[in-house]
Amino acid sequence: MTATIIDGKAVAEHLRTRVAARTATLAQQAIVPGLAVVLVGEDPASQVYVGSKTKQAEAAGIRHFDHRLPVSTNTAQLISLVQELNARRDVHGILVQLPLPASVDSAAVLAAIDPAKDVDGFHAVNAGRLALGQEATVPCTPLGCLILIRQVLPQMAGKRALVIGRSNIVGKPMAQLLLQNDCTVTIAHSRTRDLPGICAESEIVVAAIGRPKAVAGDWLRPGAVVIDVGINRIADGSGKTKLVGDVDYAGALARAGAITPVPGGVGPMTIACLLLNTLNAAIRAHLGAKAELLSPY
Ligand code: NDP
Repeated sequence: MTATIIDGKAVAEHLRTRVAARTATLAQQAIVPGLAVVLVGEDPASQVYVGSKTKQAEAAGIRHFDHRLPVSTNTAQLISLVQELNARRDVHGILVQLPLPASVDSAAVLAAIDPAKDVDGFHAVNAGRLALGQEATVPCTPLGCLILIRQVLPQMAGKRALVIGRSNIVGKPMAQLLLQNDCTVTIAHSRTRDLPGICAESEIVVAAIGRPKAVAGDWLRPGAVVIDVGINRIADGSGKTKLVGDVDYAGALARAGAITPVPGGVGPMTIACLLLNTLNAAIRAHLGAKAELLSPY
C-alpha cells in the first residue's frame, strides 16, 4: 500500500481563497478584519512565522498591525499593550507570538487577551467552551488537522483516534475536536506505556510530539490516516539541515492510508486557520453573535 499524500498546501490555499472572498464581501459593508501581531525579541523562527502570517493576512484582505518589541519588554508592558488592543474597534484578533522571553509571564499575557479577540484560541474561556462543546474559537493547528482529516475521512464517527502529545495548544484541543466528531479518542504522552500497541489499533493518528521519527512506520495500523504535526530541524547529511515531522515518513508511506508531509502538511493549515479565526472574530464583532460565520470546511 502507498499512502495518499494529503496536500496541506492546496487545502490551505483553498481555505485562504474562501477567507479572501468573504473578506471582499465584508468590505462592501465597510468592514475590514484586523489582526494585531505582537512579536517580542529577535527569535529567527518566530520572525519567519510572523512574516508568513502578516503576508498571508494581507493577501486575504485582512489588515495587520505589527508590534515588534525589544526582548527587554516585561509582563506589565505586554499586558498594557494587550489591553490597548482589546479596546480598539479596528482590531478583531490579537496574536501574541510564542514563545515569549523566559522573563515574561506568558500565561498572564494570554489571559489578558479579550476572549472575543483570542484568534489563537489559547484563552481559558475558549479552551473551556471547546471542552464543553460550546461555540469557541478553536486553536489553529488542531483545527487545521481536523480539516485535513476530513479531506480523506468525511465520516469519522466511531473511528479509533490517537493523539500523541497533550499540550494545551495542540494535543488537548485536538482530542476535544476528535471527540466532538464522535471518534473514540486516546491521548498519549511521554509516560504512555506500549505506544506501538495503541498505534496498531488506531485508525487516525495525530502526532504532536516534537521528536523526529518518534512514530515508526511499522507501528501503524494498515490504512490509518496519519497527521504529522511535528516540525523538527535535523542535519540532512550534507552539512545542511532539513525539516522533518514526528513520524518516520518513508516507513509510514508504505503502511498508512493517508499521510501529511512535512513540510507542506499541517504547517500551511495553521496560518490559514488563523485567518479564518480573524475573519470570524470580525464578523461577530460587527454583525453580532448570530451572524453566519465562514465554515472551516
Ligand atoms: P510540547 O512540547 O508542548 O508537547 C509535546 C508532547 O509530546 C507532550 O505532551 C509530551 O508528553 C509528548 N511526548 C514527548 N515525548 C514523547 C514520547 N516519546 N512519546 C509520546 N509522547 C511524547 O509540543 P507542542 O504540542 O507545542 O508541539 C508538538 C510538535 O508540533 C512540535 O514539533 C512543534 O514544533 C509542532 N508544532 C507544529 C505546528 C504547525 O503549525 N505545524 C504548530 C504547533 C506545534 P508530556 O506531556 O508527558 O511531556
